[in-house]
Parts: sequence; C-alpha cells; structure tokens
Amino acid sequence: MKALDKIITVFRKFPGVGPKQAERFALYVVRASNSEVESLVEALRAVKKAVRYCRECYNYAEDDLCSVCAEPGRDRALICVVERPQDLAAIEKARSFTGVYHVLHGAVSPAEGIAPDQIKIKELLERVRAADGLVREVIIATNPDTEGEATAMYLMHGLKPYVGKITRIACGVPLGGDIDYMDEVTLGHALKGRTNI
Ligand SMILES: [Zn+2]
Repeated sequence: MKALDKIITVFRKFPGVGPKQAERFALYVVRASNSEVESLVEALRAVKKAVRYCRECYNYAEDDLCSVCAEPGRDRALICVVERPQDLAAIEKARSFTGVYHVLHGAVSPAEGIAPDQIKIKELLERVRAADGLVREVIIATNPDTEGEATAMYLMHGLKPYVGKITRIACGVPLGGDIDYMDEVTLGHALKGRTNI
C-alpha cells in the first residue's frame, strides 16, 4: 500500500471520520512541516503512555486515580455505573451528582457477541463486595437501548446480594418536550418510571 493510502486508512478508523474527511486529514499531514508532524507523533505516543484506567472506577486517568476518584468529598457509598467514559463526562457536566462512578467500557450484547466477562462487570462486583456493605446505592446509568437494558438486568442480579438499593436512571419525557410528539416506547418508559410528587 502506498504511504498516502496507508494514512487515509488509519484516519478512516477514527470514530465519525468518513472517506472525504480522512483524505483531508492525510493531505494536511502531507502539507504540514516536519516539526508539526513530529509533535503529532510525540503527542500520540505521550497520550498512549500516560492514559490508563483508574484503579477504582476504570475511567481514564493519568495517575492511579482519575480526577473524580481523587476528589475529596465525593460520596463513595454512591456509585453510578455508566457504559463509557464519555457518559461519565456528560453526567459530570450536569454538576448534580456527588457520588463516584464505575465505567463498564461497553454493554452486554448477544447480537454483537459481547459477553458480561468482556466488560468491567466483575470488577464492579468485586469493588462492591470488597467495600463490605459500605456501598449504599448503585445507580445503573447504562443506555436505554436493548444492550443497556440487558446490562442493567445482569448487573441488578449480580449486585443484589451486596447492595441495599439498586436504581436505574429515569428515562422519558425530556424537559421542554411535548407529550403529543413522543414515541410510544419513550412514553411507556416515562409512565413506568413515574415518581411521587
Ligand atoms: Zn476513578
């Protein structure tokens, strides 16, 4: 394979990058100065070397603990389980969650052949078990799709012997939304997840 085709193939693997964009990236590299290319290569090596999993929650971290786990004052008895580090970042942005997280790095999917032991489920069970009754609540914030629901069910069974309270994030009517325009699945979920007022 020619050098240019090779770099286009590499960029094509990036999430959300189509053939046209991959080509634009490749041509940018071709036009860039030697020092720009060097700093790109250096940045790639550095991030690969520095970023690892947090020892507690499996979020991305540059130290033993991620920035959330390292924060004093976090409620360690409250664990929110998410599929991806991006989900954690989204919840953090909302600034209303004071607990800690556990990142699964995926969801159980029989269709795609992803078994429970291929994501960080046993690590969560081990973490909760090792806390010896100190975990008060686990909030399951996996996506409200087939895989996320299957993962939530699996987690619920696994966690039950160790945690008093297991909850699932509410999904349903978006703020500012119009009930009239909602699809029946979402509306069904909203009704099922209703709360006392
Ligand atoms: Zn962490």
